[in-house]
Amino acid sequence: MSTTVDDLGARLIAEEGAHLAHNYHPLPVVVSRAEGVWVTDVEGKRYLDLLSAYSALNFGHGHPAILAAAREQLDRLTLTSRAYHNDRLGPFATALAQLCGKDLVLPMNTGAEAVETGIKVARAWGYRTKGIAPDAATIIVANGNFHGRTTTIVGFSDDPTAHDDFGPYAPGFVHVPYGDADAIAAAIDENTAAVLLEPIQGEAGVVLPPEGFLQRVREICTANDVLFIADEIQSGLGRVGETFACDREGVVPDVYLLGKALGGGILPLSAVVANEDVLGVIRAGEHGSTFGGNPLAAAVGLRVVEMLASGEFQARAKALGAHLEASLQSLIGHGVTTVRIAGLWAGVDIDPAYGTGREIAEKLLARGVLVKDTHGQTIRIAPPLTIRATELDWAVEQVRHVLSA
Ligand SMILES: *Cc1c(COP(=O)(O)O)cnc(C)c1O
Repeated sequence: MSTTVDDLGARLIAEEGAHLAHNYHPLPVVVSRAEGVWVTDVEGKRYLDLLSAYSALNFGHGHPAILAAAREQLDRLTLTSRAYHNDRLGPFATALAQLCGKDLVLPMNTGAEAVETGIKVARAWGYRTKGIAPDAATIIVANGNFHGRTTTIVGFSDDPTAHDDFGPYAPGFVHVPYGDADAIAAAIDENTAAVLLEPIQGEAGVVLPPEGFLQRVREICTANDVLFIADEIQSGLGRVGETFACDREGVVPDVYLLGKALGGGILPLSAVVANEDVLGVIRAGEHGSTFGGNPLAAAVGLRVVEMLASGEFQARAKALGAHLEASLQSLIGHGVTTVRIAGLWAGVDIDPAYGTGREIAEKLLARGVLVKDTHGQTIRIAPPLTIRATELDWAVEQVRHVLSA
């Protein structure tokens, strides 16, 4: 394939360049349709989607069962606000609480809102239950974190692109190196309300903590009366071969933050899930969202949770992840320096002698494979969990080809 974009695609890209804020640097492909793991551009060319909208499309594009739930709901009721009850929210909350093994669900829309909600819950719990002095609560976060784009959240990011020039930043966050349980133990004092962590750091490049880390965090939090908040927005809901990345170590956090795939690839849906003794601290009127818990999102989320309840997608991710790991490992020394992988979620570090992550992503685009680079030399591979082994093999062959060219 040539590297030029067809006329229609070029025109649409130019139009975006003229009238869309420049807060992204997309690959030069204009998608107009998709089904399953394949997307089609405006010219009719097909590409295998190995990004899945950062794991928001764990079930692929247009999964028939999710579409059916959405269509059925679209014709009945889409929005009530929480000023009234709606008949979809209770069943969704019940199913999600059960999937998480927790009592209560607080629905929001985007991931960043779930994180913000988790921060509010942790602080309120700190003052009302733990007895921290007014306005003194702190939350321990990790270096290299990604929790979203609000002003509070970017304030505790250490990525200069996400952080710089958006201050003044909210106080109350303490940084420790990711994966260092001793540093967490040392950072805890009487004002610590919570430890907020990604059980696997996604945007950082699929960074896995050392084995046993999550268990130690759990023990340290329990021993010190500190909440363990797991940001499973990208790592959760089947991606790593378990329902949650915390399951890999048999760990149950106090608070789950969920998003992305919860909305079935159709709409934004996020949630904070915890037991009554934690989430119950939030009283009527203290928190909310106009669209949070809307019946359309609840109907979609309920279907997603039902699909996860069978364990089928988790099992697929585990089996296919092992398959993918073996084929990616064979690229080490042939343009790849490191592979980090959990389930169907891989960070592949490209040897700089072979090009930047972006250059490799552009070459893969030309061969019909969509991936996203991160932090210069890493490409992230996170296909829909519905992908077939033969499709994965084909994709890895394209990577091999690009690296050997
Ligand atoms: C994507 C992401 C978020 C933010 O979600 P948005 O829906 O983009 O606001 C938060 N935490 C993690 C770990 C994420 O991957």
